[in-house]
Amino acid sequence: MYSAPLPLAGRTSDLSGSIIDSCASLLARQQHDIVRFAVGAPSDDLLPVDMLDECYARPSAGKYGYGATEGEAALVEQILALSESAGTPTSADRILVTTGGMQGLDLAFRLFVDPGDLVIVEGPTYTNGSVTARGYGARLMQVPVDEDGMVVDALPDLVASAGQPPKVIYTVPTFQNPSGVTLTLERRRRLLELAEQWGAMIVDDDPYGMLRFTGEEVPGFLSIAPGHPLVFSVRTFSKIIAPGLRIGWVDADARLQPLLISARQAMDTCTSMPTQRLVTQFVASGQLAAHLSRTTGLFRERKDAMRAALERTFGADARVTDPEGGFFLWLTFTGRYAHADTEAMFEPAIREGVAFIPGPAFSIDGSFRQSLRLSYATSGPERIEEGVRRLQRAVDLVAAP
Ligand code: PMP
Repeated sequence: MYSAPLPLAGRTSDLSGSIIDSCASLLARQQHDIVRFAVGAPSDDLLPVDMLDECYARPSAGKYGYGATEGEAALVEQILALSESAGTPTSADRILVTTGGMQGLDLAFRLFVDPGDLVIVEGPTYTNGSVTARGYGARLMQVPVDEDGMVVDALPDLVASAGQPPKVIYTVPTFQNPSGVTLTLERRRRLLELAEQWGAMIVDDDPYGMLRFTGEEVPGFLSIAPGHPLVFSVRTFSKIIAPGLRIGWVDADARLQPLLISARQAMDTCTSMPTQRLVTQFVASGQLAAHLSRTTGLFRERKDAMRAALERTFGADARVTDPEGGFFLWLTFTGRYAHADTEAMFEPAIREGVAFIPGPAFSIDGSFRQSLRLSYATSGPERIEEGVRRLQRAVDLVAAP
C-alpha cells in the first residue's frame, strides 16, 4: 500500500473551511432534540415546498441538457425584473447565474486576489467569505462593525497600518451576517469614495436585503452608483426562496463577463439546468412577492420573540442587536457574564439542546469570544423561548459568576 504523503498543492494550506458549515454537519448528526439557532435558513415550514414541487414537475424542453454558462436567458430576465424592483436596475450583460451566493464569492476572489493581496473584511464577518478570500492567499484585515455597519471611517488608518492598498473590501451591507446590522447610506457613499481612491473592488454580498420587515430601505451600492465598475454584487435565492436550490447570481461590470464565463467553464460548465428552470417558473409565476411578505412578517415575530426572551433572561448582562430584517441577532455578554467564553459554551449548549455559532467563528484572529450569533429564522416563538431557556442553562454551566 502506498503510504508516502499525497502530492498536495501548496495552496491547500490556505484552505480553512467554514466553522458555520461544520456546525451544520455536526447538528445533522445529533439524535436528540436541538433548537437550531445556529442555522442561517428559514425553517422548513417557511419554504414554499408545494409551489416548488409543482414548478419542478412542469415539462420543459432541454431541461436536462447542458445550458449556457452565463445562465438561462429566461432566468436572467426574471433577475433583471427583480433587481429593478429592488431599486438596482441592471442589464443582462452584467448578470451571471451562479451555484448559490458562495460561487459568486469564489468568483470574486478568484478574479481579484493574488497571494499576499490585502482584503478587508468586517469584524465580525461572514466566515465563508473570509475563508474563500484566504483560499486565494489573501492577507486579511478586519475593520470594526457598529450598529451602523462597517466603521468606514476606520478604514484609512487600517490601510495605512497595512502598508498596502486593499484589492478588495468585502462587505455584507444589509442585515449583516452575523450581526444583523445595516450599513447606512452615508457610509455606503464614503465606502465608494474610498474604493475609488484605492482602486479596490467592493464585494457587495447581500443575500438578505429583500428580507426587510421594518424601517426604511437603504439604497444598494449599485443604486447609489449605477453600473459602478468597482462594485461586484453577489446575490442568491437561498434566503428568499430556499437554500437547497443553490441558485444565485453575480451583477458586475460587463467587461468582467468573459472572465467570469471562462472561470465557470473551467469549474462546472453551467448552473444546474433543472433548478434554473424551477426558479424561473417560480419567480415568473409572481408568487415570490406574496411569499416574501408572509415570511418576513413571521421573521419579525420571531425576532421580537427572541429579543424579548433574551432581555427577560439575561437583562443587562447581554447586549443584543436589533435588526430590521434578515435572520440574525448578535449577542455579546457583559456584566455578570463578561468573562463568558462562547466557544467553551458550545458543547454544553448542544447537550442542553440548543445550538448557536460562537463569536470567534466570525473573526480572523479568534476575537469575539464573548459574542455569539443566533438565528431566529429557524424556529417559531414558543420554540425560541424554549431555546433561550436552554441557552441560559448552558451559560450558567460555564460562566456563572
Ligand atoms: N453570503 C452571506 C452573507 C450568507 O449569509 C450566505 C449564506 N449563509 C451566503 C453568502 C451564501 O449563500 P448561498 O447559500 O446561496 O451560497
